[in-house]
Amino acid sequence: MEKIEKQSLYIVSTPIGNLEDITFRAIYILKNVDLILCEDTRVSKTLFRYYDIQTAYQSYHEHTQDKDVSLIIEKIKQGLTVALISDAGTPLISDPGYELIKHASKHQIRLIPIGGSSAVLHALVASQLPPYPFYFGGFFPRKQAKQEALLESLIELDATLIFYEAPLRVKKTLSVLFDVLGDRQVTLARELTKKFETFYYIKLNNFNSIDIQEKGEYVILIHGFQTEEKPLDQDVFSMYESFISQGIHKNEAMKLIGKKYHQSKNTVYAYIKTKGASDDN
Ligand code: SAM
Repeated sequence: MEKIEKQSLYIVSTPIGNLEDITFRAIYILKNVDLILCEDTRVSKTLFRYYDIQTAYQSYHEHTQDKDVSLIIEKIKQGLTVALISDAGTPLISDPGYELIKHASKHQIRLIPIGGSSAVLHALVASQLPPYPFYFGGFFPRKQAKQEALLESLIELDATLIFYEAPLRVKKTLSVLFDVLGDRQVTLARELTKKFETFYYIKLNNFNSIDIQEKGEYVILIHGFQTEEKPLDQDVFSMYESFISQGIHKNEAMKLIGKKYHQSKNTVYAYIKTKGASDDN
């Protein structure tokens, strides 16, 4: 059996719903370390009972004070073997743990991730949206100004956008998404791995016609920016001449025009050539 490493911190993923979504290795580690750090000990007790895990545990969460974090680090350095878990899924992913990891790495403590469930990946692979690149933003911001600023910064990102959201806020969030991003394909992944697991595959412009449950846990996934090609037209010539008269090199001018029309530089070049623009520069 695997040797439990000293001077190390195991970061162990636990289920996000279905209690059987956990690896054999994770259970082995949780049974054999000296101490488990839990986000909320009451929540983790269900898992411990299910798998007969009798290891000592204590709480570690976002309010754990620096002096207690230092104590944990000290214990690990002295040889205590420790695993970190959160209430559900992968620690650190919109869950506590990053502070501890920063302290641990400063003290040359080895980090050993034990993978498993995370709502973001469950949702992504069944979302029918391009699986990569993707942008994961954690919880969608609460304040409208922050929501809009964030979405504006992401508007041209060609990556599937993923956020966690509370059930009562999902509809309002869809409306903000529509206002800022326009009509895009969206997937809502609800209650993953649980009895009422549901995927809603929708277009933002008609989300109001869909009966979206306001209960359960949600992941929202949004199609990334898609460039829509605009057909090249007469304006290309005046734009081209104007760039050239400004001293811009013809290659650069065609690139700039291509950007405007979401067409390649070569397509612009072919258009200008066949329609007879001057090519003197
Ligand atoms: N660490 C977890 C992970 O790896 O996914 C996430 C913890 S975060 C505090 C909780 C949020 O994750 C929920 O509000 C929801 O947005 C999302 N989430 C967690 N479990 C979920 C599930 N079973 N189905 C859908 N979303 C879930």
